[in-house]
Amino acid sequence: MKIFCIGRNYKAHAKELGNDVPTKPVVFMKPPTALTTDERHYYIPTWTDDLHHEVELVVKIKKNGKTIHPKFVNDYYDLIGLGIDFTARDIQSICKENSHPWEIAKAFDNSALISNTFVSYDDFISGGSTFSLSKNDEVIQKGNTDMMIFSIDEIIIYISNYFTLQKGDLIYTGTPAGVSKLSPNDHLKGFINGQEMFNLNIK
Ligand code: ZN
Repeated sequence: MKIFCIGRNYKAHAKELGNDVPTKPVVFMKPPTALTTDERHYYIPTWTDDLHHEVELVVKIKKNGKTIHPKFVNDYYDLIGLGIDFTARDIQSICKENSHPWEIAKAFDNSALISNTFVSYDDFISGGSTFSLSKNDEVIQKGNTDMMIFSIDEIIIYISNYFTLQKGDLIYTGTPAGVSKLSPNDHLKGFINGQEMFNLNIK
């Protein structure tokens, strides 16, 4: 399985990091070893002083597809999970300054948290299509699909022009504004439409 991520898919987040709003999806990947389903504990890697959370809706691909036609894109997904794209912002800044790839800052082991539970896309839409992250019981990131620059359909169509999508692939669809540095003893809770999806103690 493959893990795709979309960068800068929310205007306010692109701005908070000083990036331009993109005209095409910004796509990067993480290896399968990046995935973690441990919803209780998260250990900050020793080599970063600025680990950020990026809460994101995650789409699960349900069948193989390549150069997917817009008419049929809805056949390729029906489950939405909640994830965190953990980012070593200090390392990423150095990569960006040097125009280097940023895998060591974003694709390291356990950099992709995924909820064990997924909700059906229909329930997600009928429930309001919102998601959020609280840190120490204060909501700090809030999003909904209307705030995305590129919709889930547009993202899937775009990626499938370059990569064959396979059943089980995950797509992290970008993070809204409000990213921040994590410290030991922080406590993160993620929600889709108000339903708790994970409850994480930072170590
Ligand atoms: Zn992200």
